[in-house]
Amino acid sequence: MRRLVVHGGAGRVTPENGSSALEGVRGALEVGWSEIDDATESVVAAVRWMEGSRRFNCGRGAVLNLQGRAELDAALMTGQRKAGAVSNLSWTSHAIEVARKVMEETPHVLLCGRGADRFARAMGFPRERIGLPARRKLYTELRGELLEGRGSRGRWSDGRPSHHPAWWASLQKLVKRYPELLHGTVGAVAVDRRGRIAAATSTGGIFLKMEGRVSDSSLVGCGTYADPDLGISVTGVGEVIIRHTFARSLAEGYRAHGRDPQAASQAALRGVPKDSVGVIALDRKGRFGVAKNTTHLAHGTRSDGSSSVRVGLR
Ligand code: ASP
Repeated sequence: MRRLVVHGGAGRVTPENGSSALEGVRGALEVGWSEIDDATESVVAAVRWMEGSRRFNCGRGAVLNLQGRAELDAALMTGQRKAGAVSNLSWTSHAIEVARKVMEETPHVLLCGRGADRFARAMGFPRERIGLPARRKLYTELRGELLEGRGSRGRWSDGRPSHHPAWWASLQKLVKRYPELLHGTVGAVAVDRRGRIAAATSTGGIFLKMEGRVSDSSLVGCGTYADPDLGISVTGVGEVIIRHTFARSLAEGYRAHGRDPQAASQAALRGVPKDSVGVIALDRKGRFGVAKNTTHLAHGTRSDGSSSVRVGLR
């Protein structure tokens, strides 16, 4: 059975952002489904579309780091254990396409920073300035708030938070007030008629993150993973997801939980702090799981058969 599952990020959304995310999920399902004869093509098409839609925290809509620059992360993995990823890509919005090129055109799995940007140029991707006006406006406002009370000599402005626990705590408070700051990573998993599985994830990371910060999304086994049985894309607090090698642990749990992706996804969430993670998982038989311990997880699925499109936030 062919199936595509996509997500548009875990977190808490306002009704307005929620309906925009669901429209985006529908759009991605439609575009991804048109390529469902090949699972890899399908997930890349779905994620690429979301990167271009400006609704999500990825590609054109990516959030900005402490320096006011976008640093994009993305990964692609197939059930045949082929993988490609990029981290800290700043000048190309279609990070998932560059990740695919890493998989197909290089002997490596992950390229990051300047090397990733140079590789993107060499592969013919045009240089783009990423950062929507609305993101820049919020950046200016919130960076000011984050620095408030720290004096003009606060060193956060140069990307070296001198009191990082305080800075991280301030950022968490901002996220509580502006839930949209931690929402909008995208991902897709697909299985095609031949039972081939692929998983893809793309993100702008966390708003006002330190320069050079690497998210789970670009790390195989953490935010993105596929093996011959199961494909997984994770969203949420990258630091939690990485410490738990979340996707790979879920894949191991899948075999221990009677090969039920939903049960395995829920079980994997039991081990992580609340309000931190959302996940989609899909096996080669087309069974899937959608689980979260956040308030919302924009997601949707489409499969063979009538009345097959389903989208939701909960
Ligand atoms: N996991 C992403 C990150 O930590 C963020 C997200 O999924 O919302 O960069």
